[in-house]
Amino acid sequence: MSKKKKETHEIDETGILVSKGKKSDKVVPVKLTKDSRFKFRCHPKVRCFTACCSNVNIALPPYDLLRLRKRLGLAAHEFISKYGDIQILDKTLFPVVTLKMRDDEKKSCPFVTPQGCTVYEDRPNICRYYPVGMATLRKVDAEGGKDEFYFMTKEDHCKGFEEDKQWTIGEWRADQGADLYDEMNRGWMEILIKKKSHGQGKPFPDIKNEMFFKMSFDTDYFRAFVFNSTFLELYEIPAERIEKVRTDDTELLKLSYEWLRQAIFAEETLPFKEGALEKRKERADATMRKVYGNKEKGQIGDSN
Ligand code: SF4
Ligand code: SF4
Repeated sequence: MSKKKKETHEIDETGILVSKGKKSDKVVPVKLTKDSRFKFRCHPKVRCFTACCSNVNIALPPYDLLRLRKRLGLAAHEFISKYGDIQILDKTLFPVVTLKMRDDEKKSCPFVTPQGCTVYEDRPNICRYYPVGMATLRKVDAEGGKDEFYFMTKEDHCKGFEEDKQWTIGEWRADQGADLYDEMNRGWMEILIKKKSHGQGKPFPDIKNEMFFKMSFDTDYFRAFVFNSTFLELYEIPAERIEKVRTDDTELLKLSYEWLRQAIFAEETLPFKEGALEKRKERADATMRKVYGNKEKGQIGDSN
């Protein structure tokens, strides 16, 4: 008699929302692929135009936040204080940014007008996905592994499904620019997944959470850290990459993800320069000597 393997699934490993969700959303319980077809079109003449742009929970991963703040000409901290809410993700206990809805009756998105989205070219990824969601199921069986698939969210008020335009999910995602956003946020999502799988529910010390938040969302801060600290003395980064990081925010983001993995999980994502760790220790010892004089280690803190 063969034993049937127990297999359970867990949706959305990161805890970041995978569709522009409202409580009233109807997720169609069918797993879809990139080749699955659907009929949909959203344009200013649909009766429901902008109906989906209020009372929504819109997560802003680093690339989404970067695009929006650049468009608005704001520094990260200015954008976050004006348009962001900081939430602690249930599944990882990491602080992340979501878009703060207006304080009006509908809880409208701050960027919606009767004419449509005022930040359309730089809208968040969740707005690009809609009405297609993506989920990752982690199989809890002997082999483990993941199952990534798409699903459709249908809200009664959304008239886009009554239009005749046909797409495959792959075509839709390419048209909306969702693939680029996924690619640019992938390294960061992997950090969330890793935190979740290594000690879910165990909070990091505040200092690690602050570092995660600052280095993820404030690219100007991370760039200053790279070029104004001992970062480049410590890590072996090819000169060509350093030059790109100086001016290219997307290269900078990728470097920040690698550095965060090293700083948070002690992964060797960035190689150290030869002798750099020893030099850093010598510097730290010299600082200690300056502060505490030449007392032996055991004497530090002695009052006599
Ligand atoms: S058709 Fe759907 S996606 Fe487009 S505005 Fe209406 S509710 Fe929003
Ligand atoms: S960012 Fe644009 S598309 Fe997204 S909810 Fe706001 S107005 Fe709508």
